[in-house]
Amino acid sequence: MTLPFQNTYAKLPATFFEEVEPTPVLQPSLIAANDDLGQELGLDPAFLRSEEGLAVLAGNAIPEGAEPLAMAYAGHQFGGFSPQLGDGRAILLGEIAGKDIQLKGAGPTPFSRRGDGRSALGPVLREYLVSEAMHAMGIPTTRALAAVLSGELVLREAPEKGGIFTRVASSHLRIGTAQFFAARGDLESLKALVDYANQRHYPEAIGALGLLQNVIARQADLVARWMGVGFIHGVMNTDNMSLSGETIDYGPCAFMDQFDPAQKFSYIDRQGRYAYANQPGIAQWNLTRLAEALLPLIDDNEEKAVELAKAELEKFPDIFKAAHLKIFSEKIGLPDNRDEELIQSLLDLMAGQQADFTLVFRSLSGGPETFSAQFKDDGPARNWLDRWLTAGKHDISLMNTVNPIFIPRNHRIEEVIEAAKQDNFIPFHEFLKVLQQPYVEQPEFSRYQSSPSPGEVVCATFCGT
Ligand code: AMP
Ligand code: MG
Repeated sequence: MTLPFQNTYAKLPATFFEEVEPTPVLQPSLIAANDDLGQELGLDPAFLRSEEGLAVLAGNAIPEGAEPLAMAYAGHQFGGFSPQLGDGRAILLGEIAGKDIQLKGAGPTPFSRRGDGRSALGPVLREYLVSEAMHAMGIPTTRALAAVLSGELVLREAPEKGGIFTRVASSHLRIGTAQFFAARGDLESLKALVDYANQRHYPEAIGALGLLQNVIARQADLVARWMGVGFIHGVMNTDNMSLSGETIDYGPCAFMDQFDPAQKFSYIDRQGRYAYANQPGIAQWNLTRLAEALLPLIDDNEEKAVELAKAELEKFPDIFKAAHLKIFSEKIGLPDNRDEELIQSLLDLMAGQQADFTLVFRSLSGGPETFSAQFKDDGPARNWLDRWLTAGKHDISLMNTVNPIFIPRNHRIEEVIEAAKQDNFIPFHEFLKVLQQPYVEQPEFSRYQSSPSPGEVVCATFCGT
């Protein structure tokens, strides 16, 4: 069969990728296909559910028009630089309707190092749920087109069922892609990357400085949006930060339950480098690595290049702060007040009393009783509420479109994964459906709203490997 592939990436210089075909799996079966996204891409929903479609989504057949490849990139991982990472378990089939179609877990590539190129079922389902929830909340993200069971086992801490995830992205260009060429002193490829990234994402931008400016603005906005829904990415390595400004690489990520600015989720992140409140600082650190990589293209005179790049990087805190303040002002229903102190005192109150981030914000539109019930000691909450009530007229309908009721809470994701491991995918489909309408009351699914009870807390998620 032929699919409408374009494959602009495959036409870039050979330094950008390695051609590689997916490795077929034994007995694939479809877990889920995203008809809405398929339609946006111009794919017939019937195709995604056909035998032929399944073979493509499993990596067992390569559709005509696809030019499968693994992308090259480098990256700073937890602060240390690896000059050679690349897609070790992801294969780009090509682009449809301008979007990358990538199979994650489709077998080894020249970049796999000691990895098996495969994914376990758990991380596949996690990425599906979290990325679609993110999309439903209007936050830029890669999307889930399909999830497939491979019918094979993958060896992790124990043998686990294998899965293949079809990811759709505006592109898979990363900060680490620029670092890959910079580390090799390959300015020709670096220049090709800048032109390509600008063409694809920032058609108005001029040159490397233009790209840097745009990526800074997009990532500052993205991190502010994450924080507005209590999201912790978990592995903000430079290879996991997209030049397009989409959320990418959902591994040990999480939406917070109880608010704690120092909360982290990845068990390998012992220092809390990627904790909730560190995310803007880390984004700026990552962007500084991007600027360093781009320096030779910013100006021939190194001093001047540094000066120009620094001037852009220095704008990050203000862009972030403005976006953050706008988001939180809307969350408390006072879009025009921009009262930093009022917002901060609520966050302090929540942190001091380990209140649930999502429930507190949503309860604010439910009246004083609902709100104060979110706090162990309701005295300070009522005091804050008095200040809030006199601060202006609250836009309740706005609040109800920015404060979600349903987020992919870790303890529920774990539940869904456990059921799926026993071949029961009903909870997965149910939770997915709930998450697709995060702002809408769904009383019959209220169990997905609540914070975990002490026995249900999941402190750390594990790397999606
Ligand atoms: P991640 O932590 O998922 O962002 O991955 C970091 C690097 O490790 C990337 O280059 C991945 O392609 C690679 N990688 C992760 N898991 C595997 C695996 N199972 N097999 C091969 N490479 C992997
Ligand atoms: Mg990654």
